[in-house]
Amino acid sequence: MKVIDKIREAESEGRPYWSFEYFPPKTAQGVQNLYDRMERMYRLGPEYIDVTWGAGGTTSDITSEIVSTAQSVYGLETMMHLTCTNMPREKVDEALKNAKACGCQNILALRGDPPKGQTEWEACEGGFTYAVDLVKYIREQYGDYFGIAVAGHPEGHIEVTDREQELIHLKEKIEAGADMIITQLFFDVDMFIDYVKRCRAVGIKCPIIPGIFPIQSYNGLKRVISFNNNHVPDEIWAALEPIKDDDAAVKEYGIQLAVDFVKKMRAAGVNGFHFYTFNLERSTRLTLERLGFVPSLEAVKPLPWNPSLHKKRA
Ligand code: FAD
Repeated sequence: MKVIDKIREAESEGRPYWSFEYFPPKTAQGVQNLYDRMERMYRLGPEYIDVTWGAGGTTSDITSEIVSTAQSVYGLETMMHLTCTNMPREKVDEALKNAKACGCQNILALRGDPPKGQTEWEACEGGFTYAVDLVKYIREQYGDYFGIAVAGHPEGHIEVTDREQELIHLKEKIEAGADMIITQLFFDVDMFIDYVKRCRAVGIKCPIIPGIFPIQSYNGLKRVISFNNNHVPDEIWAALEPIKDDDAAVKEYGIQLAVDFVKKMRAAGVNGFHFYTFNLERSTRLTLERLGFVPSLEAVKPLPWNPSLHKKRA
């Protein structure tokens, strides 16, 4: 099924919905661990899950394999990320063919960053220069078979100098056939709400799903923001500074911050939330539990063994 159809249904009912992003692990054991985690997180009721695509097609085989297993074995509605630069065009064709063969109907169409070790991204032969070219290609080749999501950058894409022009390019991706936007992670909800308003002002009407990243560790946060040049407000740094060496305290802070972000966005009329899980389960689960979106695992735990009760029943 197309994710956009599920989202339209949730939006028409005004109910909250969420999705989980995973990346392909490097080892066979890591992949098995991911499957176990996906199976457990299935119970958290994601509307869909998505699997990233290594820049330049570096994870093409394993991404396709995970997409196929998640979709056809675990029955999860799955979205495959697909980039269109720094790799031969045959990889695009093969990935789309494999996705269709396993029943996956959802693609997140991306330009891609330079692969590890390269500083520049390169257009792909066959006319793939920007994500919009991939959106057009998928529509040309597959008609309406795939639902297509594209990336949005609330703080501005790292290469952008003209923020208004960027929105025009975003709109071009929708006009070319994309159905929805999933955003880069961010740490300033007001800025996201303003971004949605600016998108609406240029005529972008589709769902815009915010990327939620529960902070897992101080160094992890620093690494993540270095990729996208994210702005982290001073009050977040100030709260993290005294606990930065205490991983458990940082995780707890990250969960509470994610809860506060989602509550603030809900109050502003946002229903859908995309979790950057980084293949971790606990923080996403606790965020959803504290929001009351899913029952608490503690609440459904079996009661501790009580021998006297057992005797009475016997
Ligand atoms: P585009 O939409 O092509 O935009 C790239 C830049 O070009 C922007 O600055 C845009 O304004 C500009 N531009 C667009 N069209 C034109 C035009 N016609 N003329 C001039 N300029 C133009 N990367 C991966 O490698 N693998 C992943 O799995 C992955 N998943 C992601 C998931 C999400 C939700 C997001 C937000 C990003 C993801 N990325 C991933 C990162 C993404 O590949 C990079 O951010 C990349 O630099 C831009 O991709 P894009 O699809 O936004 O590009």
